[in-house]
Amino acid sequence: MAFNESGSDRGFPRKMYQGNWKCSECGKEITELPFEPSGDRPLYCRDCHAKRRPQRFGR
Ligand SMILES: [Zn+2]
Repeated sequence: MAFNESGSDRGFPRKMYQGNWKCSECGKEITELPFEPSGDRPLYCRDCHAKRRPQRFGR
C-alpha cells in the first residue's frame, strides 16, 4: 500500500467501493464507486453522472 500520494484533497481519504457494475446510461463498466450501491438504483459512470448533474439554469 502506498500512502505517499500528496494530491489528496483536504487530506480526507475517501473510501471507494470496488466492484463490477454497469452504467445504466451508456453501459460502460464501473469498477469503483465513491458510495455503496444499493442495488435497486441505476448506477452511472463518471461521465454520465457528470452529465446528469443539474446544470446551472438561467439565461
Ligand atoms: Zn455512462
